Amino acid sequence: MTIPSTQPARIIRPEKDTFLSEENPFEAMMSRFDFAAEKLSLDPGLYKILRHPEKQIIVSVPVLRDSGEVDVYTGYRVLYNTSRGPAKGGIRFDMNVSLDEVTALAAWMTWKCAVVNIPFGGAKGGVICDPTAMSAGELERMTRRYTSAIIETLGPDSDVPAPDVNTNERVMAWIMDTYSMHKRHTVTAVVTGKPVSMGGSLGRREATGRGCMFSTREALKRLGMPMKGARIAVQGFGNVGSVAAQLLAEQGASIVAVSDKSGGIYNAAGLDLADVMQWVKEKRLLGGYPKAEAVTNAQLLTLPCDVLLPAALENVITSKNAKDIQARVVVEGANGPTTANADRILEEKGIFVVPDILANAGGVTVSYFEWVQDRGGYFWDEDTVNQRLERIMTQSFDEVVGMAERHGVSNRIGAYMLAIERVAEVHRLRGLYA
Ligand code: NAD
Repeated sequence: MTIPSTQPARIIRPEKDTFLSEENPFEAMMSRFDFAAEKLSLDPGLYKILRHPEKQIIVSVPVLRDSGEVDVYTGYRVLYNTSRGPAKGGIRFDMNVSLDEVTALAAWMTWKCAVVNIPFGGAKGGVICDPTAMSAGELERMTRRYTSAIIETLGPDSDVPAPDVNTNERVMAWIMDTYSMHKRHTVTAVVTGKPVSMGGSLGRREATGRGCMFSTREALKRLGMPMKGARIAVQGFGNVGSVAAQLLAEQGASIVAVSDKSGGIYNAAGLDLADVMQWVKEKRLLGGYPKAEAVTNAQLLTLPCDVLLPAALENVITSKNAKDIQARVVVEGANGPTTANADRILEEKGIFVVPDILANAGGVTVSYFEWVQDRGGYFWDEDTVNQRLERIMTQSFDEVVGMAERHGVSNRIGAYMLAIERVAEVHRLRGLYA
């Protein structure tokens, strides 16, 4: 049976999604999905398929605590869509994990992988827990038990996790080991974001920040603005923000402000980034840095600059502050930093937005390279990784902007249209198995 592609769209929203909240980034995401689907005249059958997760797994994870007591945690793994290839998406350990959140994040991964055209579907997983209240041993036992609980879905050809909130390469190593023990041989390609010494990829740690740098470069090029001297404000000075800031400074940009959870620092003439990095290395946080003006995270967003790079949290650009943003370009390093209501305001102001599912896709792209290298058993040097990342990021940027221009929509809707079209095309070609 084939899926017809010519019927007009008939959008039926599930009941719980009928209102649009500024705070819920996932509802905001699905509202953009709906808009893009309408623009594409996506046929109703495909619309229904793409609005539902393929598989949701809920597991109980009993863990022996160091005290001798047993605690039972709830874990999830959601495969949202695997039409284009194995499911790909991180695992988070956090008290805020819920099935709804994991499902929405899995959908997000589906669109992100499709935007950069890598052969993966989208997934996400998580365990409701507070890892900061667990010993290393407890965390390891929980990780291994959770892995064994979802082992049927895992595999290089079916579902490939990666790090997310509160998980890291140490956790990925435990997942890889547990899976390999069950399979009776070493399977490096079952997770990405592993230590380089056991099948990780060179360049993976910097990949998301590097992708943001390429996105910024392409946006400035398109607007005829020089990178040299471009004033850039970066919110968040973690993995994404600090790497992006350093790479942009290397390209000649002037990083005028950076921030972390302790607050921000600003110097209109440009920060001495090497000095800031040294401060953070010693003190861990930016707070108290003496050679710049202190600003709040809220103030950072509306500082005079050419590029704003939110790389910390979701929902920071809202209907309340969007009108005050002075940047000409917003590059979304974080997931979901802009609410749907703020989108409209940024559009009216003519701000060029590089949306999250493009701007921060460098991480999953190099995760794809890691998977390819593991499967081939042949590892690339860092220059090769970076060059291939650059090619994918610049090509995806052109495709997103091209789609937006052709349809007279924002870059964000252009990105969703590109992603949905790619996923829908595969569904049409594969047909509906009955
Ligand atoms: P991280 O934990 O390394 O860094 C987060 C930064 O944000 C830190 O500097 C932290 O101090 C700061 N921060 C925390 N709370 C804040 C607050 N209330 N106000 C301002 N700053 C605050 O995380 P990361 O890996 O850099 O991820 C940042 C964002 O990028 C997240 O939205 C994440 O989902 C997204 N992202 C990350 C990757 C990746 O590969 N690391 C890939 C895609 C998307």
